[in-house]
Formats: sequence, structure tokens, C-alpha cells
Amino acid sequence: MDFDEEKLINAVEILGGSVDKKSDTYYEILIRAYQVNDSQIGFKCPFCYSSYNSKKKCKRNNAKHIQHLHGLSKDFILDGNTHRSPHCYGDGIKYLGLDKISYQFKLIDG
Ligand SMILES: [Zn+2]
Repeated sequence: MDFDEEKLINAVEILGGSVDKKSDTYYEILIRAYQVNDSQIGFKCPFCYSSYNSKKKCKRNNAKHIQHLHGLSKDFILDGNTHRSPHCYGDGIKYLGLDKISYQFKLIDG
């Protein structure tokens, strides 16, 4: 699937995030993160779902955004300058064409 910037933006905005386009091939994804425990933060990924149908679309009736975890304390979120490489995998990123670009998550306090 070709990369589709509009689909990318829609997917992120549904979860209350925003997209900062840094170049034609590099994007920062601002997304709300939250404390999971003393050493981990997490966020719901706008791109990864718990299940997909045969056309690689998520099964909207029963699929949920999955959570990605990163080892960090919440203090780092609050500095507004914390970037994390994606843990994304599978058909979700291929459906949006995200395997054709580079992106990182910028975690904001959620
Ligand atoms: Zn993901």
C-alpha cells in the first residue's frame, strides 16, 4: 500500500494526537502517554490494532488499539521532548503505508 498522509493524520487525530511533518519522509507523531507503573509508560497506538480482516483493515467491531510500552518515568513525558522509536508491527502499518516512511512518537502527557 502506498503511503497516505491523510489516513495517517486521521488515524492519529482519532486518538487525540497530532502529526508534525518534518520532511516528505519523516513524521513526528504526538500522542498522549500515561504512567503504567513505576518504570513504564504506555500509549494507545493509532496504527496497531488487535485484529485485522483479510483486506488488512482492522475489524472495527471488535478490534482495539493496542498499547505500546516504553521503559520511562513520567517525568520524561512532561519535558515535552521525549521521542521514542515505534514498536509497531504487522498489517496496520502496511495498510497505512507507514513502512514507506520514517516516524517517531513524541509522547505528551495524557
Ligand atoms: Zn503501533
